[in-house]
Amino acid sequence: METNKEQNTVVLITGGSRGIGAAIARRCAAGGHDIWLNYNSNHEAAQSVRQEIEAMGRSCRLLPFDVSDETAVHEALEPLLDEEVPFGFIHNAGITRDALAAMMSRRDWDAVLDVNLTGFFLLSRLIVKSMLSKRRGRIIAIASVSGETGQPGQMNYAAAKAGLIGACKTLAREVAKRNILVNVVSPGLIETEMIADLPLDRILPLIPLGRVGRPEEVAGMVNFLLSEEAEYMTGQVVSINGGLYI
Ligand code: NDP
Repeated sequence: METNKEQNTVVLITGGSRGIGAAIARRCAAGGHDIWLNYNSNHEAAQSVRQEIEAMGRSCRLLPFDVSDETAVHEALEPLLDEEVPFGFIHNAGITRDALAAMMSRRDWDAVLDVNLTGFFLLSRLIVKSMLSKRRGRIIAIASVSGETGQPGQMNYAAAKAGLIGACKTLAREVAKRNILVNVVSPGLIETEMIADLPLDRILPLIPLGRVGRPEEVAGMVNFLLSEEAEYMTGQVVSINGGLYI
């Protein structure tokens, strides 16, 4: 098994029950980390990720809560943070509610901003306080190519993801002196349930590498950003998009 210098340190992943988050959880566990796995409601999927992680000899604590619910975030995390400070925090939880701007409901705007962006604010505010006292930590947000380029039908999602980039760059500047590194991983199209309804036949020709990405390809970058090799990287946006946006 691969080992990181920071053996057995905890990594907290939001939206870890499926897709990219589950791949990140597996990769981090393979890299020697114990996992705090947040998700919203899919207990079955989360249990199955937990079993895989435990089979690797790492622990996995399931934390079901809605990242946009401030009370739930505090109730779930404060008691844990009193006992242990995670080395890594990966904000991966995300949703889409696509509609053209002129047709977009206030409800869909709020829902997407709440989970993708406010969720990051609520969790990072708590976690960074604990990391500051330890003088170490890695924070990584999963954004999207939509946040870099804009995407018709995704005003809410693109705004939330662009907001994550601005939030991370700011946080990176604020906490660098305490040895806390903050970066963004920005995927293009990755094969998960999130893109199940997209017309891939029309999208694939726009991707220079001619295929969608795999969750493991995003997880590999997250694992790198948690590693010793990434100790001089902060405030960066790393795109993994097959050349969709160059
Ligand atoms: P999936 O839809 O496959 O999985 C979403 C995950 O987020 C699930 O674990 C889900 O939990 C969790 N989640 C959703 N809402 C909440 C909430 N309110 N609180 C806590 N957890 C929540 O998504 P992907 O794996 O495709 O996407 C992961 C991240 O990557 C997202 O931020 C997405 O925006 C981003 N991304 C994805 C791309 C893609 O092509 N797939 C491209 C670019 C970025 P549960 O199982 O309980 O519902």
